[in-house]
Amino acid sequence: MAGKNDVPRMVVFPQTAEVNKQGNLAIGGCDTVALAKEYGTPLYVFDETDLRSRCREFKTEFGKRYTNTDVSYSPKAFTAKAMIKLVEEEGLDLDVVSGGELAFALAAGFPVKRISFPGNNKSEEELELAVRESIGHIVVDNLPELHMLIEIAGKKKVDILLRLNPGIDPHTHKFNAVGLSDSKFGLPKADWDEAVAKALAARNLNVDGLHFHIGSGLFQYEPYLKSLDVVLEYAAAIKKKYGFQMRLLSIGGGFGAQYVPEEVPPPISAFADAIITRFKERCREFKLETPKLMIEPGRKIVAQAGVALYTVGVIKNIPGIRTYVSVDGGMGDNIRQPMYGAVQEALIANRPTAKDTDTVTITGKYCESGDILIKEIKLPEMKAGDILAVAGSGAYAVPMSSNYNAAFRPAIVFVSDGRARLVRRRETLEDLTRHDPD
Ligand SMILES: *Cc1c(COP(=O)(O)O)cnc(C)c1O
Repeated sequence: MAGKNDVPRMVVFPQTAEVNKQGNLAIGGCDTVALAKEYGTPLYVFDETDLRSRCREFKTEFGKRYTNTDVSYSPKAFTAKAMIKLVEEEGLDLDVVSGGELAFALAAGFPVKRISFPGNNKSEEELELAVRESIGHIVVDNLPELHMLIEIAGKKKVDILLRLNPGIDPHTHKFNAVGLSDSKFGLPKADWDEAVAKALAARNLNVDGLHFHIGSGLFQYEPYLKSLDVVLEYAAAIKKKYGFQMRLLSIGGGFGAQYVPEEVPPPISAFADAIITRFKERCREFKLETPKLMIEPGRKIVAQAGVALYTVGVIKNIPGIRTYVSVDGGMGDNIRQPMYGAVQEALIANRPTAKDTDTVTITGKYCESGDILIKEIKLPEMKAGDILAVAGSGAYAVPMSSNYNAAFRPAIVFVSDGRARLVRRRETLEDLTRHDPD
C-alpha cells in the first residue's frame, strides 16, 4: 500500500488520507471514489479524526501554558449540526456571528452559556434572540450596538465583551485583515473611552472583559503580540480609572492553515508559546491579574480536514494558451479562489500516485470566467469521469456556497473508522423552487 510519503502533496490532505488497496484515495478508511459514487458529486468529505485532533491540539497547547484558557470554535468557517455537536464533545465553546449561526447552535443543543456572539451590524432581532437565550457573551462591536443592547436588555443582566479594534496589520490578504484601523470591525480607538464608560455605567450590562480579532489565515504571531500590547495597556488604563478588573480577554481566531506543501504555517504550539508568554509578561508589567483567555479558531480546525470531491467533465485544450479541466462544482460551492486568490492542492482520487504530466486550470460549471477552483496546477493527464479531490476545502467553502445558476448546494459526509455518515444532504429541485409562490 502506498503511503503519504509516496505522494508529497498528501501532507495537505486530512490526517487519515492514504492510498488504499484499490489504489484510490481513502479518507477515514473510506474509499473516496466509492463515496463519490454513493453520494454523488460535488461532495464534501470531512475527516473526523483530523477535526477532533485539531480541537485537542488547541486545548492542549494553550492549556498547558495557561490553564485558564477557553477554546471557542468559530462556526462561520464551517457550520453543520454535526460539527457543532463534535465541538461540544471536544469541550470547546462556540463563537457565532449571526442569528442564523446562533439558531444552528441552539438546534444542535449547544450549551448557551458557552456561546459568544460578535458581529459588526447585529439586528434588533439578533440581539433580542441572544438576550432571550441568555448566551454566554454578546461581543459589542460599536456604540450604536451598545445603545441598542442597553435598550433591549431591559431588566435582564447581560454579559458582554467590548471588541476593540487595535489598529494592527495582520499581514494577510486584505479581505482577511480586520484589525487594521481602516476596518468595519470593532470599536475604533476614538470610541474606546466612551464605550467603556457607557458600558460600565449601564446597570443591565456586566462587562466581563475585552475582545479583539485581527484577521484570518495568519502565518505570523507578531500581530497577536502587538495587539496584546495595545489592548493590555488599555486594560491597565481602565483599571486605574474605574477599578475595572477584566475577567476575560478574547484574542480572536485567525491561525493560518496549510493549503500547499511549500507554505507551512507555524504550529499551534508556536502560536501558543509566543502568545501566552507575551500575555503573562504584559499582565505582570501592567499589574493586571491574568484574566481568563479565550481563543476563537475557525479555519485552522476545519480547513485541512475537508476535501471536496468533483467529477471531471469537459477538458478543453487551447493550444499555446491553457488547458481548462471543468468539474461539476466550482464557485457555487467554493468561491475562495475568485474571492481571495486562494491556492489549493488536488489529486485524482482514482489515480493518486500517477505522475504529474500536465499543467491545467481547474474550473467549474458556472457561467462566469472567474469561476476557477485552482488557477494552475500540475496533475496527471485527466479524462472525463475522473474524480478530483481538492484538499483544504474544509473552511470558508461550504458556508459561502450559493445557488448561483440554480445549482444545488453540495452534500457533506463525515468519515471515520471506515464509516461515512451524511451530515447534510444535497439540495434538490424542490429546495430551489419552494420559496417562490406560484
Ligand atoms: C471569523 C472570526 C473568527 C475565526 O477566524 P479564523 O480565521 O477562521 O480562525 C474568530 N473570531 C471572530 C470574531 C471572527 O469574526
